[in-house]
Amino acid sequence: LNSRLAEFGTTIFAEMSALAVATGAINLGQGFPDTDGPEEVREAAVRALRDGRGNQYPPGPGVPELRAAIAAHQERRYGLTFDPDLEVLVTAGATEAIAASLLALVEPGDEVIALEPYYDSYAASIALAGGTRVPVTLRPDGDPGTGGAAAGRRFTLDLDELRDAVTPRTRLLLLNTPHNPTGTVLSRAELAEIARLAVEHDLLVVTDEVYEHLVFDAPGHLPLATFPGMRERTVTISSAGKTFSFTGWKVGWVTAPPDLIAAVRSAKQFLTYVSSGPFQYAVAEALALPDAYFTAFLDDMRAKRDLLASGLAAAGFAVHRPAGTYFVTTDIRPLGQEDGIAFCRALPERAGVVAIPNAVFYDHRDAGAPFVRFAFCKRTSVLEEAVARLKSL
Ligand code: PMP
Ligand code: GLN
Repeated sequence: LNSRLAEFGTTIFAEMSALAVATGAINLGQGFPDTDGPEEVREAAVRALRDGRGNQYPPGPGVPELRAAIAAHQERRYGLTFDPDLEVLVTAGATEAIAASLLALVEPGDEVIALEPYYDSYAASIALAGGTRVPVTLRPDGDPGTGGAAAGRRFTLDLDELRDAVTPRTRLLLLNTPHNPTGTVLSRAELAEIARLAVEHDLLVVTDEVYEHLVFDAPGHLPLATFPGMRERTVTISSAGKTFSFTGWKVGWVTAPPDLIAAVRSAKQFLTYVSSGPFQYAVAEALALPDAYFTAFLDDMRAKRDLLASGLAAAGFAVHRPAGTYFVTTDIRPLGQEDGIAFCRALPERAGVVAIPNAVFYDHRDAGAPFVRFAFCKRTSVLEEAVARLKSL
């Protein structure tokens, strides 16, 4: 393994999902739903397969039907207009979109600012691109509290810290809202300030918005590209995995101005060349589902969030109730524990539940040590059973 990747090892998701399989524990670690997405979308994939659409290499930028559907979705939801031929690129999940964006836009030695804790592929993709990551740490606001008392406390971005992190070497900001693993949704005021900073320093922003349909409160998701000066400097990434509960399909996309899309496409063509064909046609149909689908999905996940958050609080965790995503971050100190990594390694044996230690998403591991993430994109009965087990800790 070369020096760029040597520090990364195996992803925490693979390690913890393997532990779940080995111990038979309930897997609230890796974020994937235990119920597949809409039947009609699955049927659309089957139809595409049968009709021979996409069984041979689809076009490099993605099939026209999907690019048109992505552009129509951005316009319908957010009033953002993108030219499907020049400003939309289909990728193999958001993961490839992130990697291709960084490979295309970062010069060796450039600094990339990212909000810490960050999704684990960010650090590896920055490293592959030869960039230097500059973490800006999200910290819980308010008093630490005990037990359920932290409910509602938010992991907050210190805008002064973000401003101080910018240097002449900063090339881009890698943003994620709604934020995995903390559940933070950046506010309009925070996004406006980030936009001002990007314009002032002429920075590019790559924004990972895969949880765009999982924002629980008004005003809902606010894409950074809608802020003044950002449409022309923002690479927006999303994915069908979360929104339609088909994480195994690996259909993601990028929307950006033509020059940035062309750059990202240059990298993508040598990573996967194209993404899987039949699923692209199915996702095109999914994006055109009526608003009722998106509302029902959100309502269902909100109920699951409430169930798991209150259950974890009753089990003695301090709970940071998420405003978005399908993860809830807890603090294990009220349980008399401090080391989330050790806690998560022992949890399957102790309680028959798998969770993810947030520390692995930090450069400053100490800052993340007591935090543990649970996924709630699971059936109600599974969440109830997990809570019952955790109460016996
Ligand atoms: N970004 C974030 C913040 C994620 O949580 C995930 C994974 N679920 C991804 C990107 C990767 O998405 P995909 O499965 O579409 O590659
Ligand atoms: N994004 C999902 C999570 O955060 C899992 C993705 C993965 O396994 N790489 O849990």
